[in-house]
Amino acid sequence: MRLDGKVAIVTGAGRGIGAAIAEAFVREGATVVIAEVDAATGSATAARLGSSTLFVCTDVTDNGSVEACTAEALKRFGRIDILVNNAGINVFHDPLETTDAEWQRCMAVDLEGVWRMCRAVLPTMLRQQTGSVVNIASSHSSTIIPGTFPYPVAKHGLLGLTRALGIQYAASNIRVNAIAPGYIETDLAVDYWKTFQDPAAERQRTYDLHPPKRIGKPEEVAMTAVFLASDEAPFINATSIAIDGGRSVLYHE
Ligand code: NAD
Repeated sequence: MRLDGKVAIVTGAGRGIGAAIAEAFVREGATVVIAEVDAATGSATAARLGSSTLFVCTDVTDNGSVEACTAEALKRFGRIDILVNNAGINVFHDPLETTDAEWQRCMAVDLEGVWRMCRAVLPTMLRQQTGSVVNIASSHSSTIIPGTFPYPVAKHGLLGLTRALGIQYAASNIRVNAIAPGYIETDLAVDYWKTFQDPAAERQRTYDLHPPKRIGKPEEVAMTAVFLASDEAPFINATSIAIDGGRSVLYHE
């Protein structure tokens, strides 16, 4: 098993990509703290995945909550080898129509929440002199779709955070990497399609945008998270891996 004996915290693991990552980590032998703000999905996912998981109700926008989660993980398991910063929200607006509250809501989860978790966990990884942080970024970390502001601002920042922390702590055997998924079929995507007049047509349009004529599956992101978190990627640091079926390379006429 590729994560045998490792202790991981996965934020936003109640559903979607985070739940798939938690499931893959458990399958590979890790103990997983499900750090989820939604008590219903968080506890249900922990119950489904069994005794190698612990649900800790965690809001990544709240310093006290983040510190309590880290303290609970340490109290129960004595170490933290892996941190997956997956919790994220879509906040999509025209730039000039974005209110301060919407800007702050987006930054608080998608960028500052990741920094809060890193700040809480990195001292433990430094003491251990080992650790792997995996940040779930996005295609929006390197490309812009008009009308999706300020989400790509936060996700571009998340790549900057990944690079800064990856360099800062590399000599302490701590790696910080990102995964940049394209469209992945989760409730987040389904909810977004529902904002269109014809959700089925928007779904099909999304499929057609991707060279394989489909979008990604949460398990496909989870497999890369396992790889980056494991000892199979010891010299991969401060970088990002795209999982988008090649869409970011496709030439648009
Ligand atoms: P999702 O909405 O299905 O799951 C996100 C989870 O994060 C939810 O369980 C939610 O309750 C939790 N969460 C939200 N705010 C939180 C907070 N403050 N504290 C703790 N948990 C919180 O979304 P998903 O599609 O699984 O997306 C997961 C990550 O992947 C996000 O960072 C998202 O930006 C990124 N991503 C998704 C896609 C996609 O197409 N689905 C593409 C690229 C990147």
